[in-house]
Amino acid sequence: MTRAHVLDAIVVGSGPNGLTAAAELARAGHSVEVYEAADGIGGGARTEELTLPGFRHDPCSAAHPFGVGSPAFNAMPLAAHGLEWVHAELPMAHPFDDGTAAVLARTVGETAASLGPRDAGAYRRLLAPYVGRWDTLAADFLRPQWLGFPRDPLRFVRFGLTGLLPVSLLARRFQDLKARGLLAGLAGHAIAPLNSPLTGAMALMFAVAGHEGGWPVARGGSQAISDALASYLKELGGVIHTGVTVRKLDELPPARAYVFDTSPTALARIAGLGDAYRGYRYGPSVFKIDYALDGPVPWTAPDVRRAGTVHIGPTFGEIGNALGRAIAGLPPQTPFLITTQPTVADPSRAPEGKHIFWAYGHVPNGWHGDATDAVERQIERFAPGFRDLVLARAISGPPQLAARNANYVGGDTACGAFTGLQTAFRPKLRVIPYTTSRPDVFLCSSATPPGPGVHGMSGHHAARAVLRSLARRR
Ligand SMILES: Cc1cc2nc3c(=O)[nH]c(=O)nc-3n(C[C@H](O)[C@H](O)[C@H](O)COP(=O)(O)OP(=O)(O)OC[C@H]3O[C@@H](n4cnc5c(N)ncnc54)[C@H](O)[C@@H]3O)c2cc1C
Repeated sequence: MTRAHVLDAIVVGSGPNGLTAAAELARAGHSVEVYEAADGIGGGARTEELTLPGFRHDPCSAAHPFGVGSPAFNAMPLAAHGLEWVHAELPMAHPFDDGTAAVLARTVGETAASLGPRDAGAYRRLLAPYVGRWDTLAADFLRPQWLGFPRDPLRFVRFGLTGLLPVSLLARRFQDLKARGLLAGLAGHAIAPLNSPLTGAMALMFAVAGHEGGWPVARGGSQAISDALASYLKELGGVIHTGVTVRKLDELPPARAYVFDTSPTALARIAGLGDAYRGYRYGPSVFKIDYALDGPVPWTAPDVRRAGTVHIGPTFGEIGNALGRAIAGLPPQTPFLITTQPTVADPSRAPEGKHIFWAYGHVPNGWHGDATDAVERQIERFAPGFRDLVLARAISGPPQLAARNANYVGGDTACGAFTGLQTAFRPKLRVIPYTTSRPDVFLCSSATPPGPGVHGMSGHHAARAVLRSLARRR
């Protein structure tokens, strides 16, 4: 990898954050090249025929509340590069044992009504200050909160004070199982104990996102997000190399800035930063199954058939126990499942009349067991007859996840645990978390704020840090 001229920036890794950083740097007029270890681009936003021909699965992300509402994505012409968001009727549903479901609908009213008369008002009051304010909420919270002045200071403080609470305290505003279960399921995306601070913010952000932009899938699969970012990058003159695992910085061509869409520990190893991230901790993993199905999932509750995402808990207590077991290093018993059914919104993802579906439950970091039966017993509980529809399954536990993407250390899909100070200050306490002790080396992965999810906002903020540094050094 030798050449005469010096590039402005090299990005290591082509996940949504790496591609966003690369595109923003290229948009600012800089020469940019991306190096990706896998044979294809996209990291956690890809689509593959994992099971049978014609069934187009997302090995990782499928539903995109923060993608459709991403200030970074929305500032790029991604629709012109093939990205189209498609919506199921309901962003999310959460079935219960009595054959009914709570739903996260596009309107607060429908959601509140699904929670029952005793909790409808409390849900409306909780959400009212934020609905219709996604733009300022996203600008103020999809970033390190200590950087810059909030766009909407009053709402920033209000949301901050509510969101700082553990979801266990937020749930006390509600009386019945449905609202409490719904909140726990939303907060459960963070894979943290439900009594930890900031889990309230997680639940609120997912709920507001559902009411504002929905939780859509990308038409054709999540690969369309990565392909649109890559196509825009190439239009701006950027170059992408795949099948290149970067092991040492000096293997790369000379560049003014190196931006890592990697785990912090890999960054330290590759860039020779010693023990800069020694204290960084990785969290639990997931056990994920991608299904090719002979028909739609036979949910007992009719509303669940209309949803893009389905949370299977069902109760606050069961969700808390399931997350707690994974965090404590115990194998799953009755897992909390996050599931998606993309073909409800986009039937083109499977042959006519057939469906794709994925489900994952949480397991300890590095766990080698088989949770297939535990996962399927939970699905059967709310969709009896599900197993009879399975044409094929592709299974990924922690070892398979880690082997596919070096960022999933021990299978940790969040690229870092939500624990202690690391919950708020990722990857470590540092004013600008995208910078490192080397002025030409930056981190842009989901180990930095605002954290996991396909939104490109870590890449966006890292690109801004790189631009400031390049301008200073010029
Ligand atoms: C099972 C699962 C389900 C998920 N579901 C959702 C969902 O529904 N919605 C959602 O928004 N998010 C979801 N996520 C999370 C989301 O996929 C990630 O948070 C997001 O992809 C992180 O983006 P990133 O750019 O930081 O890193 P990644 O997407 O992980 O990309 C990092 C890239 O860097 C490459 N790389 C790493 N090291 C090197 C190296 N040394 N040299 C070269 N290349 C390297 C990797 O191969 C990879 O392509 C899910 C994740 C998983 C695993």
